[in-house]
Amino acid sequence: MNQSTLDDRLFEAAKKAYSKARARFTNYSVGAALLVEGDIIISGCNVESLIPSSSICAERTALFSAISQGYTQFKKLVLVMNATPPTVSCGVCAQLLHEFAQKILITSYNLEGKKREYTLKDLLPFAHTI
Ligand SMILES: [Zn+2]
Repeated sequence: MNQSTLDDRLFEAAKKAYSKARARFTNYSVGAALLVEGDIIISGCNVESLIPSSSICAERTALFSAISQGYTQFKKLVLVMNATPPTVSCGVCAQLLHEFAQKILITSYNLEGKKREYTLKDLLPFAHTI
């Protein structure tokens, strides 16, 4: 599959996941599309809870879903959100992605199509390692 088609599929999957976000407290919705081996896309959205520590970001929803389905190779992560400019993953997600998908490229888009690309090294240059 050519790269632009794959990028389009990732964007559309993240946008679809975005529409499923449950962000009633912050109104900050995010959808994630994680590309795994075999060019399969696993998506996730953020889900907020009355108890903030029970809430989860879209990145971790997608990553945990992929891991629970047995995937081990994580190639690319695309996020879609209602923020201008598009934001980057939080520190918790960056740490977790560092542990499971260290070399992943992340692209954040907002609904107007503005994008920002970054690596985990950009976000968390001193990630916790054992
Ligand atoms: Zn996060």
